[in-house]
Amino acid sequence: MNLNLNNKVFIVTGGAKGIGAAISNTIAAEGGIVVIAGRNKNDNQLIIDKIVKAGGKASSVRVELARQEACKEVIDFTIDKYSRIDGLINNAGVNDGVGLESGNPEKFLESLQKNLSHYYNLTHYALPFLKTTKGNIINIGSKVAVTGQGNTSGYAASKGAINALTREWAVELLPFSIRVNAVIPAEVWTPLYENWINSLPNPKEKLAQIISKIPLEKRMTTAEEIANMVAFLLSDRSSHTTGQIIYVDGGYTHLDRSLT
Ligand code: NAP
Repeated sequence: MNLNLNNKVFIVTGGAKGIGAAISNTIAAEGGIVVIAGRNKNDNQLIIDKIVKAGGKASSVRVELARQEACKEVIDFTIDKYSRIDGLINNAGVNDGVGLESGNPEKFLESLQKNLSHYYNLTHYALPFLKTTKGNIINIGSKVAVTGQGNTSGYAASKGAINALTREWAVELLPFSIRVNAVIPAEVWTPLYENWINSLPNPKEKLAQIISKIPLEKRMTTAEEIANMVAFLLSDRSSHTTGQIIYVDGGYTHLDRSLT
């Protein structure tokens, strides 16, 4: 199936590592041009080198997205370089463990800046350009929005809001034929996941316990499986899909526990 992403321009936040890196690689392999917005210069360069070596096109902008002005810088960089934006993939985030007792009001707000505000800010600044291309927005959420996790109020609030904004923006952007969808991972092995599992008392046992409860094939979802869904949603092969919250999780969030 040709996804027709050739020479279209896609911004991937947190596109240098984990799920974001898989999204960057997949878009580039489909002929799209990737703009990676990430805060680590070396990580950004490593993935650009990999994409270019494989014959793809990519560039990066080094930004800390929790900083409000950074989001405008990402859009300005992309327009200066490529003069268009065909898609925005809001992906960067961190499960930062700001709980009711472990956190405080300042840390809660900071967590929203790390996980939520840049989704809005980037979409706001990208909108004029997305209108021109009838572009596309994908928000990466988390199953934590609907299951909770404990000790992570800022992250859970952000991911819940991301689901709500996916529907809200899908409605607001109907007149412009801009589609907005969310892709929801549950258990994907990435640097973020590794840090999180290692923060728990018995990481190995906990991981085995989680994996044993993933209904489809008792294994974690790969970052590439998330990326494949994102690429499909970005493409005109999904031209009548909008406002959807799609779980790519081997059935982890929803299937009947008594059967799994
Ligand atoms: P990851 O391995 O930590 O990769 C995220 C990338 O984004 C890293 O390069 C990170 O930089 C960068 N980043 C994060 N916050 C940033 C910021 N404020 N400014 C600039 N760059 C930033 O994370 P992941 O596991 O791939 O997660 C990607 C998305 O999937 C997140 O939204 C996460 O909530 C969601 N998710 C993941 C899982 C899972 O199982 N992995 C499950 C549910 C949801 P640093 O390396 O400097 O931190």
